Amino acid sequence: MRKQIIILFVFAILNLQGLSQDTKADFSAVDLFWPIVDKLKSDIDPSEDEWNKILATPYYKHYSYASEKRRNGIKEFIMTAFMPGRKNRLDSIINGPDDDYRKAMYLHIIQAEKEKAELQLYQKRLLESKFMDSLATIAQLYLPKGTIMRVKRPNVIFGFYQPDANGGITGIILDLKFSKDIYNFTLMAAHEVHHYYVEHIRRKMARDENDPADGLINAVIQLQFEGIADQIDKENMLATGAKGIPPFLYNLFRTHYENPVQNLVKVDSLLKIVYHNPETVKSNGELIRELLPLGCHPHGYYMSQIIKTVYGTRELISTVYNPFDFIRLYNKAAQKKGVFSFSREALACLDKLEKTVMQ
Ligand SMILES: [Zn+2]
Repeated sequence: MRKQIIILFVFAILNLQGLSQDTKADFSAVDLFWPIVDKLKSDIDPSEDEWNKILATPYYKHYSYASEKRRNGIKEFIMTAFMPGRKNRLDSIINGPDDDYRKAMYLHIIQAEKEKAELQLYQKRLLESKFMDSLATIAQLYLPKGTIMRVKRPNVIFGFYQPDANGGITGIILDLKFSKDIYNFTLMAAHEVHHYYVEHIRRKMARDENDPADGLINAVIQLQFEGIADQIDKENMLATGAKGIPPFLYNLFRTHYENPVQNLVKVDSLLKIVYHNPETVKSNGELIRELLPLGCHPHGYYMSQIIKTVYGTRELISTVYNPFDFIRLYNKAAQKKGVFSFSREALACLDKLEKTVMQ
């Protein structure tokens, strides 16, 4: 009898945690969002304590990067979205151009408030569905064998901020409305889960944000990080028309993914300059980042497609430990396929960077 009670108790705990045996779901930012918005809609300032509480949730902490300025930026954003007294300021952004991402963020969060009942039901369904195991299983398709068995499951953090999601070393961070609206929640979230696992298994890197080469190093990391994870969801996104993604971002993705070479040629020329004049690494690193928009998604996805078609998924996966391997393997594949490949000098420039950063 006692044993039965213990078993029942264990099941009760697992049920509370939901999603999977060792995944924790955090909805604290969602739950604190509703009462704050109710006050703002009546032009009432929430107390300092209420703001501190919501901004200290894991979701908003993720977006404030421990910066007081960003913390205030998030607070200002939520106030402007809902306070009638700030309508002029809101209108100036909402009536502005469609490719202003702030406009997409405001429209998104305002609409979230209107969908409160639906989102609360969605939250409940999500918790009941225990989706984490299937996300990890999908992420495993593009990870070295046994990864999801060795590393514990990520935590999942929900909130409201923008039509986007992130995955990193601590877990995955999802906007609840974005999760509900997206063309395919499972594939989108599995992409973020892939990021979580890559962060756990990648070789250690000695990065320093004050290093003038850090922007360029970041571009190399992003090409591989997004390029491989995009194998999970972007084929479906392109086939279905990207419901839930702001249209201007989707169009930008499509344009660069379908015409990647023009910018990659320019990146190659800049890398050559850095190779011959290392003191230009900061300014040229910035130019390279501009040539690889959307966090390097479209160009990274293009490169991973070339690797996959020439060498297959297993070889593509072998580059998860070191992003510089990803660029080198792309080059071999591209040469075999007869499409754009980086020059010898550009690769030599990256080899030099690799020696300084990979441990
Ligand atoms: Zn990503």
